[in-house]
Amino acid sequence: MSELIDNISSSAEAMTKKLVTLRRDLHMHPELRFGEKRTADIVAKRMEKLGLNVRTGVGETGVVAVLRGAKRGKCVALRADMDAIGIQDHKEVNYKSTVPKVTHACGHDAHVTVACGVAEVLAKMQKSIPGMVVFLFQPGEEIGLEGRSGAAAMIEAGALKRPSPEAVFGFHCWPGFKAGTVGVAEGPAMAGADSITFHVYGEGAHAGTPHLGRDAILAMSQCIVSLYHIIPRNLPPSENTTLHFGIVRGGISRAILADRVTAIGTLRTLNRQTRSLMKQRIGETISNICSAYDLGSEIKWTLGIPPVINNKDLTRLVRQASHDVLGKRRTIEVAHCPMTAEDFTLFIQDRPGFHLKLGVADAKTGRCHPLHHNRFDIDEKALPTGVKVLSLALLRYLGAE
Ligand SMILES: [Zn+2]
Ligand SMILES: [Zn+2]
Repeated sequence: MSELIDNISSSAEAMTKKLVTLRRDLHMHPELRFGEKRTADIVAKRMEKLGLNVRTGVGETGVVAVLRGAKRGKCVALRADMDAIGIQDHKEVNYKSTVPKVTHACGHDAHVTVACGVAEVLAKMQKSIPGMVVFLFQPGEEIGLEGRSGAAAMIEAGALKRPSPEAVFGFHCWPGFKAGTVGVAEGPAMAGADSITFHVYGEGAHAGTPHLGRDAILAMSQCIVSLYHIIPRNLPPSENTTLHFGIVRGGISRAILADRVTAIGTLRTLNRQTRSLMKQRIGETISNICSAYDLGSEIKWTLGIPPVINNKDLTRLVRQASHDVLGKRRTIEVAHCPMTAEDFTLFIQDRPGFHLKLGVADAKTGRCHPLHHNRFDIDEKALPTGVKVLSLALLRYLGAE
């Protein structure tokens, strides 16, 4: 083992207890999007104590901390999101959430903890680091497809300027992999997500005289069934794409033809071509069905976020770092891109990026509740694992070895 790997491994192992204490403290005091005041305060104080240059209030509650190495070199960033989600914690552990209806069920408490750990490992090596490492502590990742996300807010507030990172690394707790392992994937790592709302306009009439009206519910039913046929008949079976309508609203009475029905859904794709083909086919399907029924229609797309695409060179770099610090057996090649989305992608639109899957399932049994489950919890062995892989990856990117 090289001296660098040795140093990283022993510092990460030595801080395990500290990492667990921090993670549990954050877990007990979760904060919702753009309300991460306590979390941001803890982060800022820790970063200042480590000697980093700290900017707070970057995109409301975001924190940017810059570690300047003793030598000149490149600039790289690590992003960690800080917010919790609005559900009740149903776990029975002594570090359960103390805030009603707010829980770290997406593991962002672990993200903040791991990033703080990486900053501590690197701060100790400041004298031998060429270049700079920017830590991006982001608010408001759990926005869904409505409203401005924390990544967008931070970028607008100048988080990627002075200094401007040449590459950005990110990571997410991954319940599908055991603690002590990480997952790497070249290319698509998270889906792009768009939101669609469409209205079908008909004409009301008494249920006893349906020929005098135009039934929007009937046309809507046909639309939904046909829309779900677009993917299997327009895309190759190997292409991961998801279309789902979670809300359908319309009608006022059991005996009246509905004159207006609205459906709201989400489209998840992994590349630009599929995204535009799907938008075209969805539009054609809705308007053709509605005209066949002599009804009007209107479609509104809210363009969400593009997919997270892992850069080839950075993937190689992280894979090798993981092989070296964890071992090949603990480095999982991710075969299928999940169809969840991550606003991390906004940080890597103009520069290469890499997003790591940090295994958090029970290291022995492999059990773990899914993300956003009201009993979601992690095996805390994942914390030093994340610190090791990410510290080595960042240092190698800067050429510290
Ligand atoms: Zn989440
Ligand atoms: Zn998350």
